[in-house]
Amino acid sequence: MQRRIRSVSFLTIAIFSLLIAAARLAAQYPRPGPDRVYAIKAGKLLDPEKGATETNQIILVRGKRIDAVGPNVAIPADAKVIDLSKSTVLPGLFDAHTHLCMTIKKDRDGTNYFFTTLVDPTPYRAIEGVANARDMLAAGFTTVRDVGNNGNYGDTALREAIERGVVPGPTMINAGRIIAPYGGQFHLQPEKRDLATPEYAFADTHDEMVKAIRENIHYGATVIKIVVDDQKYIYSTDDIRFMVEEAHRDGVKLAAHCWTRAGAHNAAEAGVDSIEHGEMMTNEDLQLAKKNHVVLVGTDFTESAARESGWPELHPVFVDRLKRAYQIGVTMAFGTDVITYVPGETRGTLAAEYVDSWVEAGVPAKDTLRAMTMNAARLLGVDAERGAIKPGLAADIIATPENPLDDIQAVRKVSFVMKNGSVFRAE
Ligand SMILES: [Zn+2]
Repeated sequence: MQRRIRSVSFLTIAIFSLLIAAARLAAQYPRPGPDRVYAIKAGKLLDPEKGATETNQIILVRGKRIDAVGPNVAIPADAKVIDLSKSTVLPGLFDAHTHLCMTIKKDRDGTNYFFTTLVDPTPYRAIEGVANARDMLAAGFTTVRDVGNNGNYGDTALREAIERGVVPGPTMINAGRIIAPYGGQFHLQPEKRDLATPEYAFADTHDEMVKAIRENIHYGATVIKIVVDDQKYIYSTDDIRFMVEEAHRDGVKLAAHCWTRAGAHNAAEAGVDSIEHGEMMTNEDLQLAKKNHVVLVGTDFTESAARESGWPELHPVFVDRLKRAYQIGVTMAFGTDVITYVPGETRGTLAAEYVDSWVEAGVPAKDTLRAMTMNAARLLGVDAERGAIKPGLAADIIATPENPLDDIQAVRKVSFVMKNGSVFRAE
């Protein structure tokens, strides 16, 4: 007995030493070097807040941050000059609705992510997440909000790996497990009640809601995502308000998936931070959302995205709602919901394609750019750090050959990406 205790304690010490060594290694990776200094010569510098460009600006980047911006910024001798004098330079883009650790293979899964979740285990999905994150960054998306369907917290692992510099990717806000009424977004069998696990945390009573939110935050969620209405029984306004209050008390925001008119109404009335999709919203509910400072993340399916998702009829529905939301003046953040693999495309190119819907809805380029930068930064709660090119902010900077204010399609041709002061993609 004594010997066993001793060998257990030796083992404990050995494991402990290993853990400490691992923690040290994590802290040292990537190896700290001297802060690099870059001077970016911007032929045009686009400010989404003003909706205007200024010519011949210099952006000085020191380490991870923007140090100075202006026409007469002195370039230090040790600065590496990046010549973007023929390009338009702007803040990195945001996608406020991604599922990076989920890729539907149409020939295998139909268009149904129910099958994807059954076939692909979390480790594989986390690796897909690494590839999708890299592809989003290459397309100019330097920040994303990932709203669930990531297996067993694959999104938390991905966020932490990006934050530690283990893999390249956008800054992530992540939702962990989606909180939903019994059954989540799936139709289960009585003999196989666990088919929606671990994608969803079922929460029907207020006690279960509190538990689900706290458990999620404990396992690394930095935003709470609820599904209001994919079952016959939906969350009431009171249920949603209760969860918003709990989430806010815990320092995170709440995003609400609303696929139906009734669901969106309850979410708008409850004052969620954002309504996701909301394609069936009436003008009255768009007004209500505006009044309650709810941001619309419309995931406005393009014609091809709607077809790939198996709902071609939804494209005009999304465009019509986008048009009405814009006219009513609801604050909107750009979000895509891309989950399907399309040959010849990447997660990033598919996300950027969503500007097509904004063009079709008649939204001016300057407002689409605001939805892709400052509005999204505010919704994600990172606007003190990102979403603009200003001294003190993180150096998340992209460039396009043409000016997106003249034609928003220019954001589909991103040619330069700097993330946190490191050049990820050069012209
Ligand atoms: Zn989604």
